[in-house]
Amino acid sequence: MTSLNDLPIRDDLRGKTPYGAPQEHVRVQLNVNENTHPIPEGVATDIVTAVARAVLGVNRYPDREFTELRESLAAYLGHGLAPENIWAANGSNEVLQHVLQAFGGPGRSVLGFPPTYSMHSIIADGTGTRWVTAERDTDYRLSAATVASAIERERPDIVFLCSPNNPTGTPLGIDVIEAAYDATPGILLVDEAYAEFQDGPTALSLLADRPRLLVSRTMSKAFAFAGARVGYLAADPAAIDALRLVRLPYHLSALTQAAAVAALAHADEMLAMVDDIKAQRDRMIAALPALGYTPHESAANFVLFGGVADPHAVFESLFAEGILIRDVGIPNHLRVTAGTDAETTIFLDALARLGAAGD
Ligand code: PMP
Repeated sequence: MTSLNDLPIRDDLRGKTPYGAPQEHVRVQLNVNENTHPIPEGVATDIVTAVARAVLGVNRYPDREFTELRESLAAYLGHGLAPENIWAANGSNEVLQHVLQAFGGPGRSVLGFPPTYSMHSIIADGTGTRWVTAERDTDYRLSAATVASAIERERPDIVFLCSPNNPTGTPLGIDVIEAAYDATPGILLVDEAYAEFQDGPTALSLLADRPRLLVSRTMSKAFAFAGARVGYLAADPAAIDALRLVRLPYHLSALTQAAAVAALAHADEMLAMVDDIKAQRDRMIAALPALGYTPHESAANFVLFGGVADPHAVFESLFAEGILIRDVGIPNHLRVTAGTDAETTIFLDALARLGAAGD
């Protein structure tokens, strides 16, 4: 049988592993930080109507500039942003790929602070960008001084900061973003996939007069739209022009554009469950210590918890009960998404039945 290594694949991709969060259809799926609440039926009806209208025109290519979607996203983000400040693609993963295609690539580097979102290094690999790393402070935090000194040491072309950070949930101070920007002559990308779950200012508030700052967002998390694949980015119009150089023409289908615009018209309803999800997150953080685990602070819709003697065994025991969480590869840790009240109860009850710290 032919194996991958028998093929003339790029040398720099040999031995790499693809992104591979398990996709299992079990009753409680808390492993990829989706919004587990289905979208309201009235909104779904409006989306179907918009998509149906778009279908009638699919003999033509879609609007290459996704003008209406950029208008909707600019209005949603506020912060004085205009459509010229907005980019979008099929998930923020594709947005990040565009960023690395335009500003990274062979001979260039991107600096990240692991543990962080696993796709950051995978997209670096795919675009031939060298992935360099620096350490975090205690409890996965990042201070302005730590970030600035890593940038001065590594001199990367691009810096990736994840705010709040996945998989740890750690919030990032706005002062850290400012310090990172001042320390680098290169591009600073702040991945704000989970921004709607955090309190306090976002990197969007720093965009004015910072043409090398790029802020990526997604409709996959708080916005309950993961299956539609819509991510976006806000930046100076010149940075958006750079992304235009690497995107494939018509990369956002007419159906995607129609669905996203219709959903954004109902932003309040789509985001209605965010407060409840935050409450479930805080409920898990409050309950886990009594079960012998050590949850980390989280500003996102998930909780990373330590003190797990055998993460694989706990993962498997929960899975046997139809509960899917995530082993993110951090020793003695597991990560769980905050879902509905009922899902939290099922998860916590199952964990309690396993006994103290999964022993
Ligand atoms: N950034 C972070 C930090 C994420 O956790 C994720 C999804 N897990 C993404 C980006 C990508 O999400 P999407 O491509 O669905 O927008």
